[in-house]
Amino acid sequence: MGDFDNGKYVGGALPASLRAHGIEPGDVTDVVFTHLHFDHIGWATDRGEVVFPNATYRAHRADWEHFVTGPSADPHAVDKLTPLGSRLYLFDTDFTVAPGLDALHVPGHTPGSTTYVVSSGGRRALLLGDVVHSVVQLSERDWQVIWDVDPAAASAVRNRLADEAADTDDLLVASHFPGMRFGRVVTLDGSRRFVSVE
Ligand SMILES: [Zn+2]
Repeated sequence: MGDFDNGKYVGGALPASLRAHGIEPGDVTDVVFTHLHFDHIGWATDRGEVVFPNATYRAHRADWEHFVTGPSADPHAVDKLTPLGSRLYLFDTDFTVAPGLDALHVPGHTPGSTTYVVSSGGRRALLLGDVVHSVVQLSERDWQVIWDVDPAAASAVRNRLADEAADTDDLLVASHFPGMRFGRVVTLDGSRRFVSVE
C-alpha cells in the first residue's frame, strides 16, 4: 500500500515518512491511537499483518468497546484491529505513556477519544486527534461536525481545551487541520482564533 488519494482523504505515506527519518517499522516501540475511526487506524495492520511488529498499540477501552466489541462495532475497525492480538494495550484512565507524553481522555467525538500532550521544560503541545476538525471550531463555540458521537460532550471538551490553551504558549494540532500545521489559540476582541505557526 502506497500513497492514497480518493479526493477526500490523502494518506498512506506513514512508513515511507518514518523511513525518511531513519526509522524502520521494527524500531517503533509504541503506537498511540487518538480514537478508532477508520481514517485514524490505517497503518495499525496491513492485510492482517501487524505493521509495527515490536510496538505496543495503545487505545482507550471505551473506543475499543464502541468500535470493535460493542453492538455498533465498525466492521472496518474489527478487520483492521483484531490482528493486533497481544500487542494491544487498552487503558481506562489518564496516564503517562513515556516521560513527556501524557494521555488525556477527552470523550465526545468518540467515547474513548484521547488527546496526547507532549511536554518539555514547562512547554506543551496538544495532539488533539478529532477533538477539533476545523480551525473554525476554535472560533465558533457551537459549531459541530456530523461525526461527533456525542455532540454536546464533544463541544464541551473542545471548548474546555481551547479556553485552557488560549493566550498561552501551548501549541495545538488536530488530524484534519490543513497540512497538520501546529498553532496557538489567541483571543482577540473577546473571541478565540487559531494562529498557525509558520
Ligand atoms: Zn474521527
